[in-house]
Amino acid sequence: MTSPAILIQKKRDGQELSAQEIQEFIEGISKGQVADYQASAFLMATYFKGMTATETVALTQSMLDSGERYDLSAIPGIKVDKHSTGGVGDKVSLILAPLAAACGVKVPMMAGRGLGHSGGTIDKLEAIPGYRVNLSRSEFASVLADVGCAIIGQSETIAPADRKLYALRDVTATVECNPLICGSILSKKAAEGTEALVFDVKVGRGAFMKTTAQARKLARDLISVGKKMGIRCKAVLSQMDQPLGCTVGNSLEVIESIALLRNEKPFRDLETSSIDLRELTLHLCAHMLELGKVVKRFSDGRKLAQEKLADGSAFQVFRRMVMAHGGDIEAIDHPERLPLSTQKIQLKSRKKGFITSIDSEALGHLLIELKGGRKKTGDKIDFGTGFILQKKVGAQVKLGENLGWLYAPESATAADLVQFEERFHSLLQISSQRKPLAKLILDPSVH
Ligand code: URA
Repeated sequence: MTSPAILIQKKRDGQELSAQEIQEFIEGISKGQVADYQASAFLMATYFKGMTATETVALTQSMLDSGERYDLSAIPGIKVDKHSTGGVGDKVSLILAPLAAACGVKVPMMAGRGLGHSGGTIDKLEAIPGYRVNLSRSEFASVLADVGCAIIGQSETIAPADRKLYALRDVTATVECNPLICGSILSKKAAEGTEALVFDVKVGRGAFMKTTAQARKLARDLISVGKKMGIRCKAVLSQMDQPLGCTVGNSLEVIESIALLRNEKPFRDLETSSIDLRELTLHLCAHMLELGKVVKRFSDGRKLAQEKLADGSAFQVFRRMVMAHGGDIEAIDHPERLPLSTQKIQLKSRKKGFITSIDSEALGHLLIELKGGRKKTGDKIDFGTGFILQKKVGAQVKLGENLGWLYAPESATAADLVQFEERFHSLLQISSQRKPLAKLILDPSVH
C-alpha cells in the first residue's frame, strides 16, 4: 500500500490518483490502518482540489466494496429508488415509495436520519409505534417482494467506509464537496440493490445547495457517476425556500402524508394544503415509472400515479408496508393516535400584509430546539413536536390572524414557550407588497 502521507500529498498538489491508490486508501480507512487525522487531511485536500470523474467513480466503487451489497435480482420487477438531498418538511418518501410500488415498480429504499437542520425519513417512520427501520437483509427482501416497497435505515454492514468518512466530514467542514457527496450517496444506493434512481436536488434557503447553478452541477455529477456505477439515473431540481407541505415535525409529517394518501385534509379547518407536496411526489413518481419501464412516456407515468393515488391503492400499499415493518396499523387508520404533544400554542400574526418568506433553515433549527431533531448523534427525538403552517408564502394576513400552531415538548416551561414563539416570528417575513411565488420545480429533468 502506498503510504497515506504520499497519497495526501499527491491530492494536495492536484495530481490524479489511480483507482488502485484510492481503493487501497479506502480499504485502509475501513481496516483502521489510516488514522483519522490522515483521512481528514485527505478529505480537505479533496475539498480544495476536487476529483476527476474517473477518481470519483473509483472512490464510489471502493466505498461500495467496503461493505456488503444486496442482491435483489431474484425479486421480479425493476427496482427504482429516489434520493433527496434533504430539506424541511420533506416527507415525499413516505408517499412516493408506496405510490411507485402501487404503480408497478419495486422500491428498495434505504433512507437516512435528520442531518443538520433537515429532517430524515427514518426519524419520521419511527414516529409510528412499532415500525422497525432495521430489518435484516432477508426481511428487507421479503417485504420488498410481498409489498412492493420497504423503507429501512442504513445498516452497519452497508458502505462502512462512508460511515467513517461521513462522520469525519461532518466535523471537518468537508460535507459540501461534490465528489465526496457522490461517493457517499451512490455507494449506499448501489449497495441497496437499486437499478435506477431519481434524485431530488433541493435548492434554496432550507437546502444544502443555495443556488440553482450549484444544484445543477451536483445533479449532473450524481447522474454521471450513477450511470458509471450501472444505475440509470434522472434528476429534478426543486425549491426549498419554504417548507414543503403544511407540517414540519415527525408525527405531524406522518399525519400529513397519511392524509395525502387518503385524499383527505390533514387537519380540520386548515387553510393551507399539501398541494406542493402532492405535485412534487407525482412528478418524481412519473420519472420513477419511466425509469422502471412501467410507462414509455413521462406524461403516462404522471397519469398512472395520479390514478393510484386517487383510488387509494397507494394508501393500501403504505398500510401493508407499515404492518410488514411491525408498525401499529391503528396509528395509521387513526392518525390522531400518533404521539403529539399537548403543549400546543397558536401563532398569531403580529403584522398585516403578505407573507414573503418563511426561513426553512431557521425553522429546521427551531424544530431541533423543540427536540424534534438532534443536536448531536444519539440524541433522543421527541416525535410529538413541530409546526402546522396555516399560512405559507404568498398568503395575505391580518393583524392577529392565525399563522399556525407550534407543538412544544411536554417539558417546556412558560418561558420556553415565549422564546419558541419569538423565534418563530423572527423567521417569518411579512411585507406590504406581495412577492411573486418561486416555482416549486426549478428544473423538471436535468440534462
Ligand atoms: N447524504 C449522504 O448520504 N451523503 C452526503 O455526502 C450528503 C448527503
